[in-house]
Amino acid sequence: MRSVGHFIGGKEVKGTSGRTADVFEPMTGDVQAKVALASKAEVRAAVENARAAQPEWAATNPQRRARVMMKFVELVQRDYDKLAELLAREHGKTVPDAKGDIQRGLEVAEFACGIPHLMKGEYTEGAGPGIDIYSMRQALGVVAGITPFNFPAMIPMWKFAPAIACGNAFILKPSERDPGVPMMLAELMIEAGLPAGILNVVNGDKEAVDAILDDPDIKAVGFVGSTPIAQYIYERAAQTGKRCQCFGGAKNHAIIMPDADMDQAVDALIGAGYGSAGERCMAVSVAVPVGKSTADRLMEKLIPRVESLKIGTSIDPSADYGPLVTREAVEKVKGYIDIGIKEGATLAVDGRGFKMQGYENGFYLGGSLFDNVTKDMRIYKEEIFGPVLSVVRAHDYKEALALPSEHDYGNGVAIFTRDGDAARDFAAKVNVGMVGINVPIPVPIAYYTFGGWKKSGFGDLNQHGPDSVRFYTKTKTVTSRWPSGVKEGAEFSIPLMK
Ligand code: NAD
Repeated sequence: MRSVGHFIGGKEVKGTSGRTADVFEPMTGDVQAKVALASKAEVRAAVENARAAQPEWAATNPQRRARVMMKFVELVQRDYDKLAELLAREHGKTVPDAKGDIQRGLEVAEFACGIPHLMKGEYTEGAGPGIDIYSMRQALGVVAGITPFNFPAMIPMWKFAPAIACGNAFILKPSERDPGVPMMLAELMIEAGLPAGILNVVNGDKEAVDAILDDPDIKAVGFVGSTPIAQYIYERAAQTGKRCQCFGGAKNHAIIMPDADMDQAVDALIGAGYGSAGERCMAVSVAVPVGKSTADRLMEKLIPRVESLKIGTSIDPSADYGPLVTREAVEKVKGYIDIGIKEGATLAVDGRGFKMQGYENGFYLGGSLFDNVTKDMRIYKEEIFGPVLSVVRAHDYKEALALPSEHDYGNGVAIFTRDGDAARDFAAKVNVGMVGINVPIPVPIAYYTFGGWKKSGFGDLNQHGPDSVRFYTKTKTVTSRWPSGVKEGAEFSIPLMK
């Protein structure tokens, strides 16, 4: 059986804690690997390696750091198919979807290639007599990223690419459910010319996470995962004075206005609601048709589409989506369907009985669709994270706007309409971090920033784009005066720029 260790000091090392976790192959349900779970001492060893290597890396000129990132981009492209297949086999998503996972991460590595320009400071000549002021951005030192199972390529790259380009050393703690791809990415960084110790991967669970949070040499933590853990990490990291950004769960609404192109909206809902088995933080999980006739037209078109979803193995190129990540995930989603029925929602399509022929032990679930969901129901308030779409019927636009705005989560939202006024009003007023106009999954491109509001995000600054450079650097401001004839004598009050 394959075993996955840690990546410390530029190479894979075996775990020494004696603890491991099973890595499943969701499409068969088999255990395909054992991943080591790091102890506090192993995390400390990674931090010490990182601390020793970081000053020289930070002193390497930014253009050279960018070249390593450029080479890394080239190497990931070389190994695209291998990475995508491993990702699909560990996570469960289909190979084309796995390629998208890699690509959206790679775009952030491409963005990080611009680091010589992105890290430039500011300069003011003559801010006072003979006085010039300039600011510079400096790396923080050793920083860490703790990432979820659902994007094992993209989110690690969102974290380590900008952090490393800025001159930091990085400790990555990926999800223990699909650790293979993060380990391969670390190897590719070394092949690209990254010095040993600058990118370390410690696999593990809560013990490794707590060791990261309590380590005084780690200066910043970027987390992505579920909301309860995001909140826990935000609070605990703050106790040791770390800079911290924690992105959590979601409940993304799609508003369907009466004038929407219904075929386009249904296509969008099917892809965004059920793609990747709904295991995306930007998946649409609530559809809000505005007005009874819109709702009736939507349901008429949606039901046959959900019923005919093609569920397949992760390596079936014709599958719409593959298995979920674990058996527990399947049971949790089924549990929510039971809750929805008890709460009085109408189960228009029931995916619970789905069986994958020849793969009876795999973690499969058919697509489910609820109608007449109301905002007091748990299936509306809580994140299900599976192939289940809930339809909440709104009487008018005002009610539709209020639903995502008042929801606890605030990651993404979309509106489907042909009315520019309505779209503009919605984008301006909705209390959610990322908005799509006739775009169901509005994940901003790498040179903008990504981040949800309310319970979907804790801390300052977003991921990727210019915010990532701000998050992984600190600003130093220098005020300088050269003795070029300006003699003012001793000053006892606060200095002013005269
Ligand atoms: P998770 O919270 O279970 O795990 C995330 C990370 O935290 C993993 O590395 C895990 O090992 C660690 N962890 C888990 N339990 C812990 C504990 N008790 N103490 C310390 N660390 C712990 O999340 P997941 O199931 O891997 O990922 C799915 C979740 O991530 C969903 O809620 C999804 O919405 C969210 N997500 C959010 C975004 C975003 O940008 N907002 C993006 C992707 C996923």
